[in-house]
Amino acid sequence: MSQTETNVPSAETLGFQTEVKQLLQLMIHSLYSNKEIFLRELISNASDACDKLRFEAIDRPELLEGEGDMRIRVEYDKDQGTITISDNGIGMNRDEAIANLGTIARSGTKEFFSQLTGDKQKDAQLIGQFGVGFYSSFIVANKVSVLTRRAGDAETEGVMWESEGAGEFSISPAEKADRGTSVTLYLRDDAEEFLDGWRLRSVLRRYSDHISLPVQMLKEEWDEEQSAQVKQSDWENVNQANALWTRSRNEISDEQYSEFYKHIAHDFDDPLAWTHNRVEGRSEYTQLLYIPKRPPFDMWDRDAKHGVKLYVKRVFIMDDAEQLLPSYLRFVRGVIDSADLPLNVSREILQESRDVRSIREGSARRILGLLDDLAENKAEQYTEFWQNFGQVLKEGTGEDPSNKDRVAALLRFASTHNESAVQDVSFADYIARMKDGQDKIYYVTADSYSAAANSPHLEVFRKKELKFC
Ligand code: ADP
Repeated sequence: MSQTETNVPSAETLGFQTEVKQLLQLMIHSLYSNKEIFLRELISNASDACDKLRFEAIDRPELLEGEGDMRIRVEYDKDQGTITISDNGIGMNRDEAIANLGTIARSGTKEFFSQLTGDKQKDAQLIGQFGVGFYSSFIVANKVSVLTRRAGDAETEGVMWESEGAGEFSISPAEKADRGTSVTLYLRDDAEEFLDGWRLRSVLRRYSDHISLPVQMLKEEWDEEQSAQVKQSDWENVNQANALWTRSRNEISDEQYSEFYKHIAHDFDDPLAWTHNRVEGRSEYTQLLYIPKRPPFDMWDRDAKHGVKLYVKRVFIMDDAEQLLPSYLRFVRGVIDSADLPLNVSREILQESRDVRSIREGSARRILGLLDDLAENKAEQYTEFWQNFGQVLKEGTGEDPSNKDRVAALLRFASTHNESAVQDVSFADYIARMKDGQDKIYYVTADSYSAAANSPHLEVFRKKELKFC
């Protein structure tokens, strides 16, 4: 054996990170009634992998290996009891597969898991906020095989990752002719419903209609002799395969908007509200921005990902492009697709760009407009929003001088007027019911509502019937 051959890593068994083990256990139990989301998560990963390759190939076209068309394919095999989801995206090398499919690289993960209670319903909600991603495969599968090869690597440099979802996974060298990733799920008996062309198509349509890549399955035709649907040799698209934000608003249903949100935000819940516009003028761009219902578990973590995605002429450029929105709106999720920026734009260029400045200003105004509308027309929803994100929005009064007054109008406070801890009183409400001659707003700050309500400073004001903000 030559020196190089002895260095080639062979099959190896490795343990999952503790948090992955916890996630797997919990997920299988708490998301049991929500089986089909595995398709959404795997299609989402496949689509991200194609986006990443398209971006890397701008500078290194050789990564495309002569095949520029990206697509996702879904196959099922009734006899084997398997479903395979394949993409020809960026793929993974050995180290990437170990890191990406064996650990969770988000800070705060440990703390997150310490909040779990063992109560299935509560934990399912928390897990929703966390996002389960690839690991959701194990909701339906008792074994998962991932055959992958990074774009640009040699055919012999493929990797096979396999696991039964208990404590460990194995990783071994493999050959793979075409770049990208194939995930094969060996379905549990109670997930056999997915071994059906019609059922798979209908779930896929729901979860992938909004993504820009074609999701394909083999055509099926009715065969009289076998009295069954029989697979043909050619592929057909099962989704519309054009990016949702490029369609006009009246062609998009609320359900499609919601599904797209779940895809980009990695959230299980529907969004609270969204705004979708094409802006033409000094700079030209499309924005589709969402306000979530609940904050992600790591909203206060400065390194948290999954913010606004930047596209340039439909090509994905980067996640979490923080320059596109002021930081007090960091809870917003969505997509901005610019027609003006260069494809090779970097984070540094973004910081300096006039186009980006005008996108940021325009997007902030849109979100504030959306919040004005909620506050005015859907008070309950706005109160919910305020409870979850008010703390962050408040930063805007200091951070964004040009919108200071608009942000101030959106602030809500608890008041002695109704003696309620719910923060639903605006400055306008307070001013409207000020006593004749009152020319000041009175306020008290404290760590909690009860501490403020019990403040001895309030006594004299209560006597004079002056209201506290
Ligand atoms: P998330 O997608 O939220 O990052 P996942 O657990 O779903 O979390 O995936 C972890 C990582 O594994 C991804 O960030 C990506 O780097 C990698 N990955 C998963 N699926 C694929 C795929 N089909 N192709 C390439 N990389 C993938």
